Amino acid sequence: TFLIVLFITSSLVPTVGPSHRPWPEELPEELQALGIGPRTRIDHHATTRASTDFGRLTQALPAAVLYPSSVHDIMTLVRFSYSSPKPFTIAPRGHGHSVRGQALAPHGVVIEMTSMRRGGGGDGDGEPRIRVSPAGSVSGYVDAGGEQFWIDVLRETLKYGLAPMSWTDYLYLTVGGTLSNAGVSGQAFLHGPQISNVYELDVITGKGEMVTCSEDHEPDLFFAVLGGLGQFGIITRARIALEPAPQMVRWVRLIYTNFEAFARDQEKLISLDDGNKGFNYVEGSILMDHHVGNNWRSSFFSERDLERISSLAAQYGAVYCLEGARYYDKAMVHMVDQELEWLLEGLSFMPGFAFTNDVTYIRFLNRVRDGELKLRSQGLWNVPHPWLNIFVPRSRIIDFDRGVFKSILRHDNSTGPILIYPMDRNKWDRRMSAVIPDEEIFYSIGLLRSGVHAWERLENQNKEILHFCNQAGISHKQYLPHYTTQADWMEHFGSKWETIVERKRRYDPKSLLSPGQQIFTSSM
Ligand code: FAD
Repeated sequence: TFLIVLFITSSLVPTVGPSHRPWPEELPEELQALGIGPRTRIDHHATTRASTDFGRLTQALPAAVLYPSSVHDIMTLVRFSYSSPKPFTIAPRGHGHSVRGQALAPHGVVIEMTSMRRGGGGDGDGEPRIRVSPAGSVSGYVDAGGEQFWIDVLRETLKYGLAPMSWTDYLYLTVGGTLSNAGVSGQAFLHGPQISNVYELDVITGKGEMVTCSEDHEPDLFFAVLGGLGQFGIITRARIALEPAPQMVRWVRLIYTNFEAFARDQEKLISLDDGNKGFNYVEGSILMDHHVGNNWRSSFFSERDLERISSLAAQYGAVYCLEGARYYDKAMVHMVDQELEWLLEGLSFMPGFAFTNDVTYIRFLNRVRDGELKLRSQGLWNVPHPWLNIFVPRSRIIDFDRGVFKSILRHDNSTGPILIYPMDRNKWDRRMSAVIPDEEIFYSIGLLRSGVHAWERLENQNKEILHFCNQAGISHKQYLPHYTTQADWMEHFGSKWETIVERKRRYDPKSLLSPGQQIFTSSM
């Protein structure tokens, strides 16, 4: 068996690994002859662009970058590597918005999936890469290329008055990228993560075979790929469930000074999970004393509100912000006031600290974009992002608050949101590769901090947080996980590990795909 050794640098100082390539200076003739030569680049510009990601903590040069113009190009590349005496690794790269090198291919080939976003892109027949079928089951579905941005999927489905049900907070991520993880946001308590809302997938396995799979057809591959961290196949099409899109959103933020009350109210709201009476979206965040107005979520508040919240946060050290959204159509605007009154009744937020906004549905879903553009204009978007995302079981969330928010982060003065909101395990299918804590309700916690100079300190703090969880016996799971040893991956997958290994053996036996995850470093 051919051993593929990864030299990805998970170290904090960006460096480039050894420079041996699967081929020397030029593409092999066999590859040229296959027709993808003109779309495969080995120049410095192309390989440098594909050598890092949104996290800016890791760097590793690929040998080449493929800019596919069709699904066939991708199959050609994977088949070539699979049948070669010297196979090389291949990483589909969506928007490269991972933060720890998950979409890199050190010395291998990165596939810039987004080169299929525009133009024909199909199998050479010019078929559009986002196709809405309104008259399918329930409200229909959309077939979207794995390379498509969710914002484009939304814009296309809205033309039919429809939209996917489950989202991420930020929409400039690709369908294949988020489905390889889970895709969570404030709708997940109601509809499950994005991976729970997929009917069918087209996948190119690590052997270069194209397989259409679903719950009924090739279900093992279907569930392997959902949350599969790119290990079992490249998603080239996903059929995603749709619902009628609302026109408007009543968007609410409620401020708490007491964590127990905040968490209790979040859990109460997600237990009203019929979507008719309750919120359609529930999230939450922690606003530390010094960064109340200092992150991409702050544009919700007026200057005056921010001042009031800041002085409350200064008094208490931090405040908790419960965020809810109720969807409605313009004709029903009179109802939404009553519904909201009913929903807020009996919640324990600080009196006088309930804030509301009315926005269009697309503006609500695309809310992070404004913050992104603001940060970009200040030169604060393309900076290191030592993010940490973890799922914490409900039974230990108070301990987490005490040990992390009130202790480790007590005097934290970094920038970037800290999110916290509960989800329901029953909305996740256990057959999927994604892993979550073994408790019915668990919290998603996102420490989305950034800093040009602070990243090393933030990394140390992340380690301290994980260490605290381990010491305190809080059986958390990392989301968008990052580990560098197989022992850690085994622990991460827990009882699913055997299944993961078996799936790898079946669908990517030479361990070609998504090497940046650092799960399998040799062929199976
Ligand atoms: P990439 O980073 O390019 O790839 C991720 C992994 O998937 C890699 O291993 C890659 O090889 C593999 N991959 C990529 N495309 C394919 C494909 N077509 N088939 C198979 N494997 C593939 N996540 C949430 O769940 N909820 C959020 O609210 C959220 N908000 C975010 C906000 C911002 C600003 C950022 C930067 C990230 C956010 N994320 C969120 C995380 C995001 O979902 C992941 O980082 C995701 O992987 C990014 O998608 P991408 O298209 O950039 O994927």
